[in-house]
Amino acid sequence: MSKLIVVEGKRWIPSLQRWSWIITIVWMTIANIWKPFGLFGFICMFTPILIALSGSGKMHCARVCPRGSFIGKVGSVINFGLPIPRLFHKRGFRFAVWACMMGSFAVMLVLVIPKGIYALGNAVLIFMETATALALLSGILFRPRTWCTICPMGFSTENIRRLTRRARAQKAA
Ligand code: SF4
Repeated sequence: MSKLIVVEGKRWIPSLQRWSWIITIVWMTIANIWKPFGLFGFICMFTPILIALSGSGKMHCARVCPRGSFIGKVGSVINFGLPIPRLFHKRGFRFAVWACMMGSFAVMLVLVIPKGIYALGNAVLIFMETATALALLSGILFRPRTWCTICPMGFSTENIRRLTRRARAQKAA
C-alpha cells in the first residue's frame, strides 16, 4: 500500500496527478457520445469541496484534480510564458469569477433539471468543457496551472480551509 504523507497535520495521499488527466479525457469523450455520462462531472465538482470539508484542505488540488493534471500536462508542452495578470491574484476578482460561474451554474440547473438527465448531462458537460477551455487557454498563455489561481473550486476549498483552520485555532485557544 502506498505511503500517506502528513501535510498540515493531516494524512494526504500520494499525488495521482501524473495520470489523473486521463480521467478528464475519458470522461469528456464518453460524455460527448452519451450525454447522461456528463452527470459524473458532479463528482469532479464536489469532491474538492467534500475533501476540504473533511479537514484535508486543498489535498484534491494538490494530489488528485484531473483538470489540474490535464492543464499542467498541456501547458508544459505548449506555453507562451506571459506574466500572469495581477488581477488574477486579487481576492475581489477571484470572488467575481466564483460568483459568476457558480451563479450561472445554479441558473442552468434550475432551467435544465426539468428536461431530464440527457439535457442535464449535456449541460454539465458544456459547463465543464467551457471551464476546461478557459483553463487550457490561460495555461497556454501564462503558466500551465494559471487557472488554479481563479478556479471557483480552488477558491471554495481555500475558503473552507481558512474557516476550518480558524475553527481549529479557536478550539485550541
Ligand atoms: S484549483 Fe481547480 S483546477 Fe486547479 S487543481 Fe484545484 S480544483 Fe483543480
